[in-house]
Amino acid sequence: MATLIFDNSVPAGAHDQIRDAFDTAKAWATKVNKDFLKWNADNASLPDFNQLVNTYLGSRTDARYTAFDSSVRRIKNYLDGTENLIISFNGSPDEEKTYAYTSFNSGKLTLCRKFFSAPATGTDSAPGTILHELTHLLQNTDDHEYGKTKTKALASQSPHLAMRNADNFEYFCEDYCSN
Ligand SMILES: [Zn+2]
Repeated sequence: MATLIFDNSVPAGAHDQIRDAFDTAKAWATKVNKDFLKWNADNASLPDFNQLVNTYLGSRTDARYTAFDSSVRRIKNYLDGTENLIISFNGSPDEEKTYAYTSFNSGKLTLCRKFFSAPATGTDSAPGTILHELTHLLQNTDDHEYGKTKTKALASQSPHLAMRNADNFEYFCEDYCSN
């Protein structure tokens, strides 16, 4: 697991909840990475995966799927590795609609109050939030659109943007890995 360094802003009582969410995020990234390889070799071998690819990434082009593959692998390897990630907390009311934020190559992830009331699995979950933020941190993704309806529309209308949109990645992982 990436080495989580909690700064003084994070209440000690929250550390376990954060670690649990990272553990689940790592399991999801591992599953998606593994199944991507199987799907890429034979799309028909994983119909559920294939369906979600169409839903969240749009129609297939090899260049786009090569990029998706490298994102998934980069995030999985990061979570498997030992690189330090500073975890901070921002409890400001100004951030009441925000789960978390980060910036590319910053080595730091800030969690907001909403993160701590996010579900442990499913849509807009805590592990999905971590995967969303890791796409920003590691792959410099954008937030072109938020939410399920708009991310699906982005995939069908502008798949090249969906590929670079953090919520598309998050929903893909949540839908595929949650039961
Ligand atoms: Zn974002």
